[in-house]
Amino acid sequence: MSELDDLYAEIRSCQKCALAQGRTNAVPGEGPADSDIMFIGEGPGFHEDRQGRPFVGAAGKYLEELLAKIGLTREDVYIANVVKCRPPGNRDPLPEEIDACRPYLDRQIELVRPRLIVTLGRFSMQRYFPGASISRIHGQPKRVGKVIYYPMFHPAAALHQPRWRSLVEEDILKIPELLAKLDELPEDESVAPQAEQLSLF
Ligand code: URA
Ligand code: SF4
Repeated sequence: MSELDDLYAEIRSCQKCALAQGRTNAVPGEGPADSDIMFIGEGPGFHEDRQGRPFVGAAGKYLEELLAKIGLTREDVYIANVVKCRPPGNRDPLPEEIDACRPYLDRQIELVRPRLIVTLGRFSMQRYFPGASISRIHGQPKRVGKVIYYPMFHPAAALHQPRWRSLVEEDILKIPELLAKLDELPEDESVAPQAEQLSLF
């Protein structure tokens, strides 16, 4: 078993927050263990809970359409969520649920080591852009050391909001350019602290 498989097993039997009670299946996430790109959504919905897989309902179908616009399929990228179990009735995850689940996503990121982290929606944006407003910062990448963080609207929200839909479609088209820039990085690790100042570029 790989370390990721161990992590998935741990998540599937997790009881660290109240969401454990309502779930059919936990949804650890999936994708290549060495993916350069990680998409982070909010949490499982109805279909994800049933199947134990991320983004397999309507939002997932739309995410796949967005990926197709840049020549990618879901198998090419790693897909995870902020909370691994479905909030009842698809309500927003509570701060204590997000906190309880945080170490799993942290370990996932440590193991996969993505170079581009795309946040989908407010809850995953808040991990990297605390206090920011998604309508203001969507589509604006931020580089910290070797990783680029890139906030986008959630595909479920964009699906139902024509205005956000065109924005999410514009934002996805910038990803190839960001991937091409991944290696334009300071050779010298000592300059990293400067990059840590989280400037937008
Ligand atoms: N919405 C999410 O945020 N995550 C999923 O896995 C599915 C829908
Ligand atoms: Fe555990 Fe996360 Fe599921 Fe809560 S949401 S029970 S912390 S895996």
